Amino acid sequence: MTANAEKTGAIDIDGLTKIYDPDGEHVVAVEDLDLHIEAEEFVALLGPSGCGKSTVMDCIAGYLDPTEGDVIVDGERVTGPDPKRGVVFQENRLFPWKTIQENVEFGPQMRDGVEEGRAQSILSEMGLEGFEDAYPSGLSGGMQQRAELARLLANDPDIMLMDEPFSALDALTKEIMQERLIEVWERDNRTVLFITHDVEEAIFLADRVVIMTARPGGVKDVIDVDIDRPRSSEDLTTDRFTELRERALSVIREEAQRALEQEEGA
Ligand code: ADP
Ligand code: MG
Repeated sequence: MTANAEKTGAIDIDGLTKIYDPDGEHVVAVEDLDLHIEAEEFVALLGPSGCGKSTVMDCIAGYLDPTEGDVIVDGERVTGPDPKRGVVFQENRLFPWKTIQENVEFGPQMRDGVEEGRAQSILSEMGLEGFEDAYPSGLSGGMQQRAELARLLANDPDIMLMDEPFSALDALTKEIMQERLIEVWERDNRTVLFITHDVEEAIFLADRVVIMTARPGGVKDVIDVDIDRPRSSEDLTTDRFTELRERALSVIREEAQRALEQEEGA
């Protein structure tokens, strides 16, 4: 990426509706959702469980076709997956039969070939130096997620789509992962869409927090996080952080309540 290159990784979601129809059940997961994400922006998508967060992400990733509406990335309609849009899930997608290095090199190998030393350098940046020849099963959960992040970075994506990537980790490991992610993001100018149901995580990480409505998912509220970077754990206790958290929580509570009522009514 050169300094003068035009920014890449802008996402335009325009009137996105996704209806699942298993056995004629007709589940409206997302309805008429509009969202614009700037190139190189860090956006957190926050919402109660079942509100359609993963559905939105899968449409951006190109794993799912919208029922209505479009997802446009850098002016082009998304019609399928692309390594420029890298995806991380809560459960890593590492191949258990490949070593960590082989996992990291797999994506580039499938395309233009492996650059000597690149996997090692990404792995060492993720704190995985010395684990190149280990298998995923030999690594802790936190290390596996770092390897997963390394696998993603090896593809040099414009956009990182992260679906609750740290929610299975313990609090301390989660904090370390958040810091790593921010470092990588600040340095490499990538767009990040980070899905979480953790209000503090969303505010700590993001430039903007987009809060979704209960299903069918739409945009309920958008919070600009006007807390300077670099942020540290000390920011978590400031008045501004508390204010933003309270605001997000009150919106979330309302939507979670609606979701619960929907379930009970169903
Ligand atoms: P979230 O990620 O916010 O928890 P999802 O996008 O996974 O929400 O799901 C939104 C809604 O769509 C939920 O009610 C879920 O049960 C439903 N849903 C998700 N995937 C499918 C599917 N493949 N078939 C039918 N319904 C689905
Ligand atoms: Mg989900």
